[in-house]
Amino acid sequence: MAPTVTDATGQPGANGSAGASGTAAASGTTGTAASAGSSAQAGAGAQAGTSGQAGATTRTVTELADGRELIYYDRGTPPTARAVADLRPLDAVAPSSEVRQDPMTGAWVTVAAHRQARTYHPPADECPLCPSREGRLSEIPAGDYQVAVFENRFPSLAGEPGTHPVLAALDDPLHSRGPGIGRCEVVCFTADHDASFADLDEDHARLVLDAWTDRTAELSALPGVRQVYCFENRGTEIGVTLAHPHGQVYALPFVPPRTAKMIDRAARYRAATGRNLFDDLVAAERASVGSGSVASASADSPAGNSPSDYPEDSRVVLAGEHWTAFVPFAARWPYEVHLFPNRRVPDFTGLNEDERAEFPRIYLDLLRRFDRLFGDGERQVRAPYIAAWHQAPAGHEDELALHLELFTVRRTADKLKYLAGTESGVEAFMNDVAPEFAARRLREVGKAPAAASTPETTDDTTPETTAEEAQR
Ligand SMILES: [Zn+2]
Repeated sequence: MAPTVTDATGQPGANGSAGASGTAAASGTTGTAASAGSSAQAGAGAQAGTSGQAGATTRTVTELADGRELIYYDRGTPPTARAVADLRPLDAVAPSSEVRQDPMTGAWVTVAAHRQARTYHPPADECPLCPSREGRLSEIPAGDYQVAVFENRFPSLAGEPGTHPVLAALDDPLHSRGPGIGRCEVVCFTADHDASFADLDEDHARLVLDAWTDRTAELSALPGVRQVYCFENRGTEIGVTLAHPHGQVYALPFVPPRTAKMIDRAARYRAATGRNLFDDLVAAERASVGSGSVASASADSPAGNSPSDYPEDSRVVLAGEHWTAFVPFAARWPYEVHLFPNRRVPDFTGLNEDERAEFPRIYLDLLRRFDRLFGDGERQVRAPYIAAWHQAPAGHEDELALHLELFTVRRTADKLKYLAGTESGVEAFMNDVAPEFAARRLREVGKAPAAASTPETTDDTTPETTAEEAQR
């Protein structure tokens, strides 16, 4: 089984632990590498670069001045100038955080007070995620890069997993707590400060997928890590503090609440039906477009679907040969899309080459649709969004399905959805846009610039919303 990512030496690395070795010096290109295909996950061999060595993904592991790990991922041309030393006079950071369990809900809360000092909306010419230039050194010592991943200098979770006692002081069930071990990484999607993920070409998006896969394989192998969570926050409306296109990877020492709920629901569904919840969910949504409508991809219809073929009430946005994107039946957000591989896999490492090859086209298409939702042809109103990748926690690979939950907090060109009394108070979402309308809208904006449109179930006159908005 070939690895998804090989080290810059050209040698597929042995399974290793991230950061634990701490031996990858800035002057070297060696480092431990996890071969994604070897992590004993389900699925056929994940294989990059089947089009030849030129298309393969390689990585170069280096170390920043304060000891944090920095990894370059490159595709196509072999990296020649990646092992550049970090010349900044950085003190080593000793972040400390702890996790505490809410005795009423079981949810773990991370308390990381040191993060208050982190970089906040720096000017563009001081962007820490741009490549380093003469006289201006950033987090990326190299003068250029394709995709770069480094450990966050202000992590919510840090410390070597496995070196601390297991979470939860069981002798005090009201005050379960533990050290905030884990790892927080920043994934720089491109060296281009002004780009967005949606601006990447397919080969570059594939490189990001390979980086996510490699991080998942490596971090999930660390003792104490329960789930590897990859996500992107895009837009100041979401609270993004750095404009440079980037995402994050959290290696969590606990199973987060939404995942825990899904595991519970999947177990109940299995007990009731004998089947897998996610298999049935994806099959049901695909069935809604009717047989024959889920066509294979073509140049004219890049994702393989012709939206006009879909029944009006279908929630499917894009149906490819290997991936399906749909607005969920009980969508929480004005525009929310879930993207699943048609073949259930627990995490990125389980994807096979066919699925990897189709992914960039589907994902870029989705992101571009989001950016067309609110513009009027003359004015582009990019949608702030959260792209949240759900992966099976350790021990739950048999039931939980890898999938993306992509959503925007924008309701209209000039209105945002805020989490207020119902959502923040009791976790009961009130959605002002019908999921079927949202799906139709996302199908409509597949090609031409969108015309202005108003949700059919406008909320602006409902008493609850008016009252809520008045309080903001
Ligand atoms: Zn930048």
